[in-house]
Amino acid sequence: MPTDIEIAQAATLRKILPLAQERLGLHEDELVPYGHYKAKLSLPALRRLEKLPVRGKLVLVTAITPTPPGEGKTTTTVGLGDGLNRIGANTIICLREPSLGPCFGMKGGAAGGGHAQVVPMEDINLHFTGDFHAIALANNLLAAMLDNHIHHGNVLGLDVRRISWRRVVDMNDRALRQITAALGGPGNGYPREDGFDIVVASEVMAILCLADSLADLKRRLGQIIVGYTADKKPVTARDLQADGAMAALLKDAIQPNLVQTLEGHPAFVHGGPFANIAHGCNSVMATRTALRLADYVVTEAGFGADLGAEKFIDIKCRKSGLQPSCAVLVATIRALKHHGQGADGLEALRLGLPNLERHVRNVQQHYRLPAIVSINRFDGDTPEEIALVEAACERLGVRCVLASHWAQGGAGAEDLARAVVQACEGSAPPLGLLYEDSDSLAAKLNAVATRIYGADGVDVEPAAAKQLEEVTALGYGHLPVCIAKTQYSFSSDAKRLGAPEGHRLRVRELRLHAGAEFVTAICGDIMTMPGLPRSPAAERIGLDDGGRIHGLF
Ligand code: ADP
Ligand code: MG
Repeated sequence: MPTDIEIAQAATLRKILPLAQERLGLHEDELVPYGHYKAKLSLPALRRLEKLPVRGKLVLVTAITPTPPGEGKTTTTVGLGDGLNRIGANTIICLREPSLGPCFGMKGGAAGGGHAQVVPMEDINLHFTGDFHAIALANNLLAAMLDNHIHHGNVLGLDVRRISWRRVVDMNDRALRQITAALGGPGNGYPREDGFDIVVASEVMAILCLADSLADLKRRLGQIIVGYTADKKPVTARDLQADGAMAALLKDAIQPNLVQTLEGHPAFVHGGPFANIAHGCNSVMATRTALRLADYVVTEAGFGADLGAEKFIDIKCRKSGLQPSCAVLVATIRALKHHGQGADGLEALRLGLPNLERHVRNVQQHYRLPAIVSINRFDGDTPEEIALVEAACERLGVRCVLASHWAQGGAGAEDLARAVVQACEGSAPPLGLLYEDSDSLAAKLNAVATRIYGADGVDVEPAAAKQLEEVTALGYGHLPVCIAKTQYSFSSDAKRLGAPEGHRLRVRELRLHAGAEFVTAICGDIMTMPGLPRSPAAERIGLDDGGRIHGLF
């Protein structure tokens, strides 16, 4: 089997403008081309489409608790989209843009895999249309204006010990996690502790993804809290008069990107917050636009259904009014065996099944979505192993479909596509929100921890408890919570595999994101700036003399 990049490079792509005209009915001048194979939807096009009625059903692709390489949600989103289009269901997929952190780190790119990919794969994985650079710059412009304000007399009275705004870069760079800024004398400002997060954890990224219009983007940017005065009053980006220039930098980034799948079907790839340290969903604007252009919209939320799917419901859908019709839960034999730690073969698989069972129950009972388990077939999977997972699903009363789009493209996902069409029949179920806006932040954390993670409760460390009180006192207790925790376990401890019980969610820190309109709870050992592994993927990526990239995966 050739590698992902070899398959992608061998593909014949259609020019994106005729594809968009034919498939989406867009006028040529409603698209902003970035070369031949990528385009953005212009702002006037977005405004025109906004007025059309919603015609599509929204399908969420989520997964069991993954292993480090990922279990194939993106691959399944692409394969299912192609499968739906093959059976005559007009479909657009909505994905997130890849971050350079995992591209050069351990996990690799995020454009799908095998014969289920979006292309041009190298562009999408590397700089794409520059959205992440624009987001980083908007974020860092605010940081620069903040330090500059303090340097020039600090009229707003910011307490340099209480600055909450951090700088960002789209790279795994552990050396930047905690730094001292502004060293070198009076001309360089007032020295203070600072730190970098990865772009996909940034509030500006979340804002871009949750904003439903340009006006909403500007409103949210203005609301960002950068720090506090000595008497603990918040200071905002609007106070610093930074929001206008930030919005100007994001003028193009806010427009959804259009590309195609290997089979020539349209794909929106827009926004890219991680699901472990951020809210994990592609942009509201891309999803809403797609729902006006297609009968089915398939979208992925990151990592397992405890993270991405929960935030998809409790943050993205709660705020935008989006209404999913069903969820596809991707499972692999590999990951299930991994959850049956220590055992061998079928026994490992059997011991790993409780992980799948808890995710199925969460999707059905808590998110209240019709669920389909999709086994993402790997070459080495045996008929006995597949039968065991199918039998477990039958016991659970959940439909299970074997899918082989990685090897076969959309043809390998036609059964899954038919199951999805069936599951979407009838009206969308009422949204399964886990908590009410009016619940306290502590109650919200408790609801997610106990109902979704299977925890006994929440332990809020003293520093975080104080932040919880302060955030509530400032009047932000009504916001949803965005839990940052490891993607490798239901718990906040990466080593607790399967369906752990008797654990408690350990909350270390709270970050108020008044612009994104959620409160992030940082749990366990998770960090908002990842590091590179001992042998990063970057060591194997290169460019040949003909200008062709190799080694991306
Ligand atoms: P996720 O979105 O869940 O993180 P991806 O779809 O990005 O996962 O897939 C992760 C990696 O696994 C990709 O490199 C992809 O090529 C590979 N992969 C996915 N499905 C299969 C499969 N059925 N067989 C072999 N490799 C696969
Ligand atoms: Mg993915």
